[in-house]
Amino acid sequence: MKCLLGHKATSKLFCRLLTTAVISSVLILSAASFGVSTLYYNHVVEDAEADAVGVGRSILALEKHLLVQLDQNGQEYLKVTPTAFQTLDEVMQKALGPLNVLKVKVFSPDGIILYSTDHSIIGRNNAKNPRLQIALSGGISSELESKDTFTDLNGEQHLNVDIAETYLPILAPNGDVIGSFEIYQDVGPSLTTADIGIRQALASLAVTLCVAFGLSFLIMRVAARELRQTQDKLHKQASVDTLTGLFNRNKIMQLLTDETERLELIHTEDRVKNFPKQQTSYCLIMLDVDHFKSINDNHGHPAGDKVLRVIAQTIKQVIREGDQVGRYGGEEFLLVLPETDLKGAQAQAEGIRSAIENLNIYVDQKEIPVTASLGIATKYPAESDYEGALKRADDALYQAKNLGRNRVELICLSNQGTEKDISHTLIAK
Ligand code: GH3
Ligand code: MG
Ligand code: MG
Repeated sequence: MKCLLGHKATSKLFCRLLTTAVISSVLILSAASFGVSTLYYNHVVEDAEADAVGVGRSILALEKHLLVQLDQNGQEYLKVTPTAFQTLDEVMQKALGPLNVLKVKVFSPDGIILYSTDHSIIGRNNAKNPRLQIALSGGISSELESKDTFTDLNGEQHLNVDIAETYLPILAPNGDVIGSFEIYQDVGPSLTTADIGIRQALASLAVTLCVAFGLSFLIMRVAARELRQTQDKLHKQASVDTLTGLFNRNKIMQLLTDETERLELIHTEDRVKNFPKQQTSYCLIMLDVDHFKSINDNHGHPAGDKVLRVIAQTIKQVIREGDQVGRYGGEEFLLVLPETDLKGAQAQAEGIRSAIENLNIYVDQKEIPVTASLGIATKYPAESDYEGALKRADDALYQAKNLGRNRVELICLSNQGTEKDISHTLIAK
């Protein structure tokens, strides 16, 4: 069983989560920034519009006699004579200058500029302006605009000015639209306040997101660590023999398969490079405890268990780093010795046999003499799997039993696995 959430997998998962968190934060902040800015700017425009309506009313209240005339039917209409321009200018400067009003225009119902604080444009026709048409139809239209330069009511030039431009109708007492005002207001200060508000709101959101994602990461890290520990534990349980602590049969067979595949890969690479090297194969040792049934019978099952544990520890102590051992069956053990020739395996097996023979195992102050028989085989390059080697190791073990036990036996093929010619090498005690 493979660990589903190994270190690499968790790092990959965290990398993905981090990327998701960053992308989500950017998206959330962008959406929030758009939403908050729209809200703030709408608010600034609404305020400016309300102010413009007040300004329009004040102009009419103060200077109606300069703007409005009566026709022969007694109906009001707009008319500004050039002699009124000067007076209107002064009134506008005095009354509206302190209110951030930068410019005022008065339009006739057909879109002609009847009066403007900028005299140069008086008389122009703006009838095609759709926003003016809204006002001349009785509605109000306000928009924000940025101008590089702008001249105010006092003739002073301003650079980079943010302006709220409002068109509003001029109504006669009977409700008829008799013209329109266009009022320009400097909304720079309001926008600066809005910008500060937007930045503060976004900064709080960014901090909140960082804290939320940071906490989520911490929680997930702890959860992932616990999950990994549980998986490691399960993984270990699935591959370890509980009695001896060695690998169980499944695991040792998996290791044998892995080692066979690794060797096959090396052989294939060598063949592709056309540079065949003599790669040392692996050897297998099959070990079986001698007369173990009688140990159980004479000393009891728990004593048998103890013997198995001691033998397992003994094998582990004798083998080299890189060699693998597992409990293959009841009192049978399988050893996989990578990159080991038969001679090396013989020496190893003999070391194990002698270490077991020399054990002093006591149960209830009674010594239990133990010996083991061992069979050795190697996998030849001509063989593509481990089956042949496993069978020869088992056969060699059988030979060792037949020849009196407490022995090491080896079966090798004189023709290196290409023919069925088997030769036995018997190793005396
Ligand atoms: P031989 O020398 O031919 O191998 O004889 P043997 O008695 O060792 O062989 P046999 O296969 O007849 O007996 C193996 C015994 O091992 C039988 C079984 O009850 C015992 N056994 C298998 N697993 C365990 C275990 O986990 N604990 C104990 N105590 N005994 C076990
Ligand atoms: Mg046995
Ligand atoms: Mg057996």
